[in-house]
Amino acid sequence: MAAKSAIRSESGKVRRVVVVGGGLAGLMTTIKLCEAGVPVDLFSLVPVKRSHSVCAQGGINASVNTKGEGDSPRIHLEETAYGGDFLANQPPIKGMTDAAPGIVYMLDRMGVPFNRTPEGLLDFRRFGGTLFHRTAFAGATTGQQLLYALDEQVRRYETLGVDDDNGIAIPGEKMVRKFEFWDMLSLIKDEQGVCRGIVAQDLKNMQIEAFPGDAVCLATGGPGIIFGKSTNSVINTGTAASAAYQQGACYANGEFIQVHPTAIPAADKLRLISESARGEGGRVWVPKSPNESRRGRDVPESERDYFLERRYPGYGNLVPRDIASRELFLTCFHEGRGVYNTRTAKNENEVYLDLTHIPKPTLKRKLAGILETYEKFVGEDPYENPMRVFPAVHYSMGGLWVDFERSADGSLVHDSPRNHATNVAGLYAAGEVDYQYHGANRLGANSLLSCLWGGMVTGPAMVSYRKNMGRSAYDASSSLFDGAKKREQAKYDAILKMDGPENPFKLHAELGQMMLIDVTIERHNERLDEVIAKIDELDERQRRVSVLDTSSRMNQSAQFVRHLSNMIVLARVIAQGARNRDESRGAHFKPAFKERDDANWLRTTMAMHREGPNGHGEVTYVRELSYAIAGKTLTVSDSVDVGLVTPRPRKYEQAGAANAAAPAAPKAGDASAKPAVSV
Ligand SMILES: Cc1cc2nc3c(=O)[nH]c(=O)nc-3n(C[C@H](O)[C@H](O)[C@H](O)COP(=O)(O)OP(=O)(O)OC[C@H]3O[C@@H](n4cnc5c(N)ncnc54)[C@H](O)[C@@H]3O)c2cc1C
Repeated sequence: MAAKSAIRSESGKVRRVVVVGGGLAGLMTTIKLCEAGVPVDLFSLVPVKRSHSVCAQGGINASVNTKGEGDSPRIHLEETAYGGDFLANQPPIKGMTDAAPGIVYMLDRMGVPFNRTPEGLLDFRRFGGTLFHRTAFAGATTGQQLLYALDEQVRRYETLGVDDDNGIAIPGEKMVRKFEFWDMLSLIKDEQGVCRGIVAQDLKNMQIEAFPGDAVCLATGGPGIIFGKSTNSVINTGTAASAAYQQGACYANGEFIQVHPTAIPAADKLRLISESARGEGGRVWVPKSPNESRRGRDVPESERDYFLERRYPGYGNLVPRDIASRELFLTCFHEGRGVYNTRTAKNENEVYLDLTHIPKPTLKRKLAGILETYEKFVGEDPYENPMRVFPAVHYSMGGLWVDFERSADGSLVHDSPRNHATNVAGLYAAGEVDYQYHGANRLGANSLLSCLWGGMVTGPAMVSYRKNMGRSAYDASSSLFDGAKKREQAKYDAILKMDGPENPFKLHAELGQMMLIDVTIERHNERLDEVIAKIDELDERQRRVSVLDTSSRMNQSAQFVRHLSNMIVLARVIAQGARNRDESRGAHFKPAFKERDDANWLRTTMAMHREGPNGHGEVTYVRELSYAIAGKTLTVSDSVDVGLVTPRPRKYEQAGAANAAAPAAPKAGDASAKPAVSV
């Protein structure tokens, strides 16, 4: 039986839902919930404006076709499916690509300062995996502009009161209550396995509290820090997804980790040089002579090897990231042709990314953000010198498994409670933390889109779920919440007492190094076996760490011990998934199994957690999943819905391989490749 009141529980409390994550996905989910009159408790590790979405640089895809190239949402769908090596379910992609132009116009109306053409239209640039100009951008700080625009909308809801069923304001209640500097520790599940809220810790005074929620959405971003240093923010440990996984949520396609071809190293993290640099005409090359001792800018044109343009004449420098990263890896590691360093007298794992042929005012207008970053951290002027870059772990295509309901036209049923539902009743996931849109390889500038679209779908899905749920979480027994809080408090107290010989930060460095070397661009089964054994060893050793800091305020060390444990669990899911998948698909490349194997592997990896006999987590992989939603039990399988675009081999060596309607390939290095028509 559905709950009697939309706003109050039987006991008279205001029925709120929980959104964990204040990046683009979390904020958009929150906005949609508020639009439907559902009050939200919003949690974030950091101020929401510092969520990792703020780092996004290059732009957001939408087939608006202002340049008259014949682009369309259908082609965007085809290229996304093709770029993802057909591992993504296609109805969610169709929903997303159909909605994309409207999303960009909405952002424009919210005040995002998108770059514009001289006529005042939204400008679009090229990105990887397409020949169309499809990426709307705000210089090279697009994520920041989008996040700030959504943050303003959410702030409005923080000041807006909650009305009861008669339209009368409820004293002291606001549509959004924001909990910044809080760490979600676990879900609260009742005896039926329904998610009823979360336990979270205030990272200022380290107090642990239980929060009821009629539904919970995790929008907690990616797990890049499992790989040590990456382009991700240091908070991106995947801790919340890991906690949910350990409490029964299925984790899908974990082995699909994107390595971005162009980043710069630094002591703290690897800073990205966005694909937009190549979208604006940047060219990747190495000197033809491996011992070339001249500076990049002094090497004559005829002595340069533009290896991406040479091997992929159609897409050139804008082949999808899985291919570009592999080519860079091949050139530097296997062929030993990385940029020669005269000081160390060896070839570094670096290639040149050259923008020096593009007029400075154009670069300043379109790419200033990333070029400033390069100059600041490398100490070289990228307007005058080719930049030195190399691949870095960047994005997780895998994540929490979420469902969808297919509509008659092959898209999504609007409002279906199944959309973005995990297999834990009442738990939803959106943004990089879910696995839904990018298959085996994400196309650049599709993530900001999938985060926003994901939020636009998840909000209404949670509203439907909440409308039809039986008892509100606010009517559940208080012992459920007290018990969950006590459990987490006991775990935290145990962490504070840890005084063993191991250092958690060193263990993390070991984990990261191993994952980086053996579970990224090239994967070999023997090495993966060693990685899995080493993960078991690290799991053992992390039980003997010293917490290093026992203070009762802002104890980042104790928090890190918890995150480390959760990272080790997800690392096992990623490595074991990679070990199992004996094929090459998208970002998952095994030299011993070079081909894609649709007969055996056109299927979603679905990992479930099980406690092993010695307390270690074990991963089991399932082919089917049963879960309860809207009073029914549904059984879903690992087969992928490829009903809209028929899988075929990827051939990026050919121009327009991803679709039949591609425009003529721009000439290599032609930064001024102008559209045929300006509408
Ligand atoms: C350098 C860089 C540049 C990029 N550029 C682009 C681009 O140009 N175009 C594009 O499409 N994509 C880009 N991406 C990818 C894209 O930025 C991300 O995939 C996307 O922003 C993720 O958004 P999100 O909302 O899912 O998560 P995030 O923005 O990562 O937000 C996660 C939120 O969850 C919170 N959180 C996490 N764990 C917890 C917890 N335990 N408790 C409480 N809160 C928690 C965090 O505080 C944060 O608020 C880029 C990525 C990087 C690394």
